[in-house]
Amino acid sequence: MSWLRRQDLEDREHNTLSRWAAFATDSGGRRAAEPQDPVRTDFQRDRDRIIHSAAFRRLQHKTQVLAAFEGDHFRTRMTHSLEVSQMARSASIALRLNPDLAEAVALAHDLGHPPFGHAGEEALHELMADHAGFRHNAQGLRIVDYLEDRHGDGFGLNLVRAVRCSLLKSTAPAGYPISDDLLPLEPPPLEARLVDLCDRIAYLCHDLDDGIRAGAFGIEDAQRLELWEMAASRARHQRPSGIISEMVALMMRDLVRTCAEEIDGATRERPTMRQSQEIAARTAKLQDFLRQHFYRADFVLERMAEGRGKIGEVFQRLLQSPDGLPDAVQQRIEADGIHRTVCDYVAGMTDRFLLKQR
Ligand code: MG
Repeated sequence: MSWLRRQDLEDREHNTLSRWAAFATDSGGRRAAEPQDPVRTDFQRDRDRIIHSAAFRRLQHKTQVLAAFEGDHFRTRMTHSLEVSQMARSASIALRLNPDLAEAVALAHDLGHPPFGHAGEEALHELMADHAGFRHNAQGLRIVDYLEDRHGDGFGLNLVRAVRCSLLKSTAPAGYPISDDLLPLEPPPLEARLVDLCDRIAYLCHDLDDGIRAGAFGIEDAQRLELWEMAASRARHQRPSGIISEMVALMMRDLVRTCAEEIDGATRERPTMRQSQEIAARTAKLQDFLRQHFYRADFVLERMAEGRGKIGEVFQRLLQSPDGLPDAVQQRIEADGIHRTVCDYVAGMTDRFLLKQR
């Protein structure tokens, strides 16, 4: 036959991937049984479901560090997720892990973020203090399991277990309303850990780029970073964008090399996905630098405080008058309670939709 069937792709995984990879044939199945796709593996199908979800489209208007509407060139959660997905895919291919799983997990890894990034997360966590709190990764799971209710059957996107476990990353606040079929929490596949590491490399490097662009600090400040120096000595051009691009490349090469050594040395114990000690130490310095010069810069903190205040205001108002919730959302009150329903609704908002609330 001239076309590749799903079974051919599954065979190819078994013939080419590492024994530590997650195989689509062991995806753990779906909460609601469905016939399998003739051409796509379970992981490829889940990747497509994620890309076609409304929650994924909303990432376009959600803050990474700078509110998405402040400038057309800054990262949003969507462009960030696309960067992470490509990095995780390339690293997985090099390590003979499953690139389709890594891609699906990377595209979905930020779905649960509320408006205004970590400030929004902290605000919701406080507002939900007596109701199991708020955590973006557990919220991501609620979105794919329930809130993205495309078929109205209560199974959300009905993703496979391996993808759902990966989104949860083995942590959820006690009592967080997630599907109990994932309890007790189990360690996620290696691909999930790889996505985590790519996520960090992606955001630190692009925040360095956005920070310079936004005028939060100057190139002369960034030049003091060891990673900058390493990258500058190898970059073909000395423009910041060229140096940062080289920085991503050298961090990714280090990640792949270090993980490969871990995988090669693993006997029965699961290998640890990690950066080399040298690059990890330099990465920590980059993170400290960004915290000091960008994440806690006055103009960023001001914007975050504004978002935080608005979240509190809208949350309290909807709690008092649930009539302000869309009809479909009101229907969830009976099962989820008013607090969780309002929290889910506010968490799903984009930055600009939140600020438009009167
Ligand atoms: Mg992220």
